[in-house]
Amino acid sequence: MSSNTQIMRQPLVLVATDEQRQGQSIREALQQFGFRCELVTAAASVFERFRETPPDAVLLDTKDPTFHSVALCAKIRKHESGGELPVFIVADRGDEEAVEEAYRAGATDIVFNPISMPVLPHRLRYALRTARSLSDLRGLIRAIPDLIFIVNKNGEVQDGLSRPDATHTLQIKALSTASLINFYPCENDDGALELIQRALETGKPQVYEHVLEGLDIHLETRFVARDKTTVLAIVRDITERKSAEEKIYNLAYYDELTELPNRELFSQSLERTIAIAKSENQKFAVLFVDLDRFKRINDTLGHTIGDELLKDVANRLAKCIRSTDSVSQIDARAKRNIRLARLGGDEFVIKLYGVDSPESVANVATRIIETLTPPFTCAGHQFVVTPSIGIAMYPQDGKNGEELLMNADSAMYRAKAVGRNNFKFYSETMRTKSLHRLDLENLLREAIASEQFELYFQPKVKASSFRLVGAEALLRWHHPERGSIAPDDFIPIAEETGLIVPLGQWVLNEACRQVSAWSKSVVGTVPVSVNISSHQFRDSGLVGDVLDAIANAGIRPRDIELEITESVLLQDVDKTLIELKALKEAGVSLSIDDFGTGYSSLSYLKRFPIDTIKIDRSFVKDLHQDTDDAAICAAILAMSQQLGLTVVAEGVETREQLEFLRRYKCDHIQGYICSKPMPADDFYALLLKLSGQAANSDKHARASA
Ligand code: C2E
Ligand code: MG
Ligand code: MG
Repeated sequence: MSSNTQIMRQPLVLVATDEQRQGQSIREALQQFGFRCELVTAAASVFERFRETPPDAVLLDTKDPTFHSVALCAKIRKHESGGELPVFIVADRGDEEAVEEAYRAGATDIVFNPISMPVLPHRLRYALRTARSLSDLRGLIRAIPDLIFIVNKNGEVQDGLSRPDATHTLQIKALSTASLINFYPCENDDGALELIQRALETGKPQVYEHVLEGLDIHLETRFVARDKTTVLAIVRDITERKSAEEKIYNLAYYDELTELPNRELFSQSLERTIAIAKSENQKFAVLFVDLDRFKRINDTLGHTIGDELLKDVANRLAKCIRSTDSVSQIDARAKRNIRLARLGGDEFVIKLYGVDSPESVANVATRIIETLTPPFTCAGHQFVVTPSIGIAMYPQDGKNGEELLMNADSAMYRAKAVGRNNFKFYSETMRTKSLHRLDLENLLREAIASEQFELYFQPKVKASSFRLVGAEALLRWHHPERGSIAPDDFIPIAEETGLIVPLGQWVLNEACRQVSAWSKSVVGTVPVSVNISSHQFRDSGLVGDVLDAIANAGIRPRDIELEITESVLLQDVDKTLIELKALKEAGVSLSIDDFGTGYSSLSYLKRFPIDTIKIDRSFVKDLHQDTDDAAICAAILAMSQQLGLTVVAEGVETREQLEFLRRYKCDHIQGYICSKPMPADDFYALLLKLSGQAANSDKHARASA
């Protein structure tokens, strides 16, 4: 270690004395203890020396009337580097007045004459240590961004330890020391008082959070016991931390695009609502809203437009829900009651509390549909977006949030399956019938691989004579454990997941193979119609696949008819037209299935090479009761005849329906009145019977001729 650094570490004491000899002895005594000593005997220059080389401590022993120790001490105290400095004043024992004056002038300690040389260095060292600790502490208080107050057990501020410049760390600048008190947020605050009490009793620091009214400043106060009756209140501005926490919270619980709560937050709120509903014996509803054909808009027009559309939908839904104000009572209790959330993609979910009758839930669902009905405009495009809504009611449709959501979801699929832009309640019967979508998706993949599918055939007959004219191939899924699963339950999922393409391919091949097998048998050729999903049309290879299947089976194209829905005609019109024409030219027949449920009109159909339309069974169902349905059927039949289209009525079950259809010259019928769909073997047996009857009646005719 160099002698220089050693000197630096040795405290410097400025000793001012009138008596040279006394000064010498003091210096010797101090030096022995490792002090450096600066001796000044001319009282007039003491202050000068002090300013030139600020010492670590001062010992004053001058009686010069103009530069008396007491006056010097007062002057040093006022100087910027003299505030905390240990200043010792030498006084005569018994001179009480001098002692009093010295302390008043700011002396740290008094040393009495005659000075005890062995004691003096120890007292100086102790004073230096105290001064250093104090200045460290001051530095610390200045450096930390907190405001520090001394507070009594009644919560009243006794003193502020912080300097005014500490306010630079708070958002509000230019505060005077007086108004610093305003930042002590806990006066007259019961919560704070309790914590102060606890800090005093336990000796453990207590933390209290508080928002400054109107300023949006968040403060955190720590109460630390100081003695038996006072605490330090250390106040910190945590506004930034709070806003960071809020950002993190928003990222975790809100959807960035629509700013709606996300699935996580909704699920949490759902559980809280269930707890409240349980205790109040209340019902409530969960509505699962999915946009029909949103994927198409997204795929064809791009995600930017898709995103815009979702935002608009979210806004409309929010407005619609806001006007359903039956929920305000629960809002007051559950702080963050969530009524609308986006679960992802085009899926939204709504919670309706206090709406307990199915009728009032249905009213809201209807209003949601109406809200979304006016076309949306994004980037110059206009869209019509329709929702399918599934509704689950607490408690009958699910005891926990997960169950309610799952069942509302499957009700939504049911709504889609029966023709979109509507809503369906989840009911007990649905639970046994339909499986959870995810479940189904996995099962479907397995089913394709392990051939759990079968084609059933339903006869189509002439309305006038019941003569067989063909059959519709209808897909059946036999699951080894779950039994048979209806097409309405799995086709929508096959479509959503794209599995419809391989599945549809299988149906085509199987139908063609069957036509071929029958044509080689005694029963002869029976034309078969195959249902083609609009999703298969989107896949570019459809025309080739159909023609390949026909060629591979070695049958005639005219023995296969494709049943497509009106929605196919609405999507990508130019491409569809080319494909339909290609199929038509190859000789394949085309028919429009479920006619009347979609958007197209008969005149629109003229543009496409269609042979047949099938009147949807929903119109046939109430033919003899509902005059609207009767009028629609009659109109479809009249116009189709003019356009030269063959008409098939689906779902004919009763004589009355049949009579009506015959009266209006419907060509063909299909329905339980004639036969249910049946396995290929049964259908073959039916064909055999029919051909036997035909042979018999031929024989009969020949015999009687
Ligand atoms: P769809 O093409 O309109 O088929 C007619 C549906 O009505 C069939 O239901 C049939 O069993 C039923 N049905 C026939 N006659 C009557 C009747 O008199 N009364 C009643 N209540 N119903 C009758 P299924 O087999 O359950 O098929 C439902 C739908 O699933 C079909 O409606 C079709 O859209 C779709 N689907 C069936 N098989 C396939 C397929 O292989 N591919 C595709 N893409 N869709 C299929
Ligand atoms: Mg069909
Ligand atoms: Mg149909």
